[in-house]
Amino acid sequence: MAAISMLFLFTFSSALWVLHASAELQTFAHPSKHDGSLSFLVLGDWGRRGAYNQSQVAFQMGKVGEKLDIDFVVSAGDNFYDNGLVDDHDAAFEESFTNIYTAKSLQKQWYSVLGNHDYRGNAVAQLSPLLRKIDTRWLCLRSFIVNTELAEIFFVDTTPFVREYFTETNGHKYDWRGILPQKSYITNLLKDLELALRESSAKWKIVVGHHAIRSVGHHGDTQELVTQLLPILRENNVDFYMNGHDHCLEHISDTESPIGFLTSGAGSKAWRGYTQGLNRKGLNFFYDGQGFMSVQLTQTDANIEFYDVSGNVLHRLTASKQLHSSL
Ligand SMILES: [Zn+2]
Repeated sequence: MAAISMLFLFTFSSALWVLHASAELQTFAHPSKHDGSLSFLVLGDWGRRGAYNQSQVAFQMGKVGEKLDIDFVVSAGDNFYDNGLVDDHDAAFEESFTNIYTAKSLQKQWYSVLGNHDYRGNAVAQLSPLLRKIDTRWLCLRSFIVNTELAEIFFVDTTPFVREYFTETNGHKYDWRGILPQKSYITNLLKDLELALRESSAKWKIVVGHHAIRSVGHHGDTQELVTQLLPILRENNVDFYMNGHDHCLEHISDTESPIGFLTSGAGSKAWRGYTQGLNRKGLNFFYDGQGFMSVQLTQTDANIEFYDVSGNVLHRLTASKQLHSSL
């Protein structure tokens, strides 16, 4: 498999490089720790210039990040409220990102996807390499892969899946440059993802998108993802699907596979409640407030914790590969 391109991005702690595109998805190598383990934080729905407890969540992330010696941060989208960035010189980038996540432990690479609110602004601006000149931590692409060898993390651009954003825009204007026609964009993305998942030999396969597959929060399940994305995750032994969008913390187990659905969309504004009458099958944990999530992986074990705005651990889930293989 020939390397298609080599692009060097220098960060505070490590050099990242594009290995190759196994399908069409760009792949970034991010080595695990020397002992083979990996740890990172997952945060979604955050950029509000520090308001709605964004700064308090950031402070606790800094403490947990230091304790776990995190390798990077995953952002599950809705990075800048209310309407993304205006352009790649928008002051909101520094006011909501650079000046908020100031802890030493958070000066690591951030891997971000776009959310629906990001698409309501200049979505292309968030992908701009100019932002990486302002803050080298920033890396936001539509769909891409981070390969740590221990784990492979597949970032999926979920906003274009949601039909409502094309048909009932409620006065919002979406930046669909590079997306249309929607149908072929989705078809190609799913084809690329499926191939990359099938070829992956990583111990842990994690998929990250902005929208939930399963949620009992305000927005509930994303039907388009249940229909189109979930079957591919089930077929390819994905361990976890992580998302934002609903401003809460959640852990739901798939009823038909070992996949864990994890929502971390509580980076700032929260307390939106949950909708009655939604599918609550497999629900292990729901917290309707601000916070974030940590992920620690070894060859055999996953340890995932959810924290509130004061840094209290609200819920912990563990998974063991040995256990699965011995069953
Ligand atoms: Zn959203």
